[in-house]
Amino acid sequence: MTTEAANDFGRAVPQRPGKRQRLAAFCSAVGVLPGLTSLRRILRKDLRILAYHRVLNISDPDAFAFDLNEVSASPEQFRQQMELVKRHYDPVSFRELIAAIEGGQPLPPRPLIVTFDDGYDDNYHIAFPILRELGLSAMFFVSTGHIDSGMPYAYDWLVHMLCRTRATRLKVAELAFDKALPATLAGRRELGKELLFHLKGLDAATQAAIIARLGDDWGMPPARHPQCRPMTWDQLREMRAAGMEVGSHGVDHNILAKLSPAAMAAEVRQSMRTLERELGPPIEVLSYPVGGPDSYNEQVIEAAREAGFRMACNYVTGVNRLPVPAHYELQRLSVESEMDIDWFAAMTSLPEVFAHPKRVRAG
Ligand SMILES: [Zn+2]
Repeated sequence: MTTEAANDFGRAVPQRPGKRQRLAAFCSAVGVLPGLTSLRRILRKDLRILAYHRVLNISDPDAFAFDLNEVSASPEQFRQQMELVKRHYDPVSFRELIAAIEGGQPLPPRPLIVTFDDGYDDNYHIAFPILRELGLSAMFFVSTGHIDSGMPYAYDWLVHMLCRTRATRLKVAELAFDKALPATLAGRRELGKELLFHLKGLDAATQAAIIARLGDDWGMPPARHPQCRPMTWDQLREMRAAGMEVGSHGVDHNILAKLSPAAMAAEVRQSMRTLERELGPPIEVLSYPVGGPDSYNEQVIEAAREAGFRMACNYVTGVNRLPVPAHYELQRLSVESEMDIDWFAAMTSLPEVFAHPKRVRAG
């Protein structure tokens, strides 16, 4: 069996299924998952939180000049996944989770929360109607500065510039990068992945300076773009009125641990204030931008608590044992576009075996 892999390399090419996918297909064929899942439930009780970014149909990767790694699922995949969630889990909202914890009430036996990071407008146009139709709720973590401005996300714009620039070399002195730009879009996406990984290790100001400088050098300053558009406040208001939840993903999607303590605390507070002003209280949950272990620390957690956030999600792969011990370090299961439904089912059932490898600096 082969699958079309359009996520990593920018071009839909037949790719051999990976080990996790083959094992998931085998488990599905022999029907062992339900038994193993029941056994696991007897041994431990967990809260699962799924993490999505974009839900989008990429019919022609060559015509899509943004980061394909941000696409978590096609609309068809997302619908199938949500139908499975509805059948096999007890979807809950953060509001219900917080109320259960505070009231000392037990959660339903198979609790699961669906989350989205960043705030892309496909969340509104594609994911929201599917969720509403199925009677499900989800949490949308948005970067308020992007909702305000309508401007693309900086990392995505960087990938866009790499895909489209006419320059022949990529020079980033801060990272000792001086590389020829590949001729193919696939090669450029690979280079973008490498650049983003190293860039996310730098402080926030240096990251912003590098992206701005490349924009100047290549004559590609950030601009609104239909393929990389944040949602609007009106869309978020409509989603909230229909039972969706909205939380903070910072203001400018800065990695909070890489800001000065004052700037970090201000960003956390301001995102809360803006969300409450635009949408009304309560705003109770934060998702740390990027979300890997080096993107937040004790100071960030303290700032979140002080700003009034009751819980926070990171982007570290895992499930949360109940009762939840670490309210500001909720782990998630990242959904990726290469996951077929067997893999998704296996990943949600037995995450220790089937979860996607950690994307330490992504998110
Ligand atoms: Zn993000």
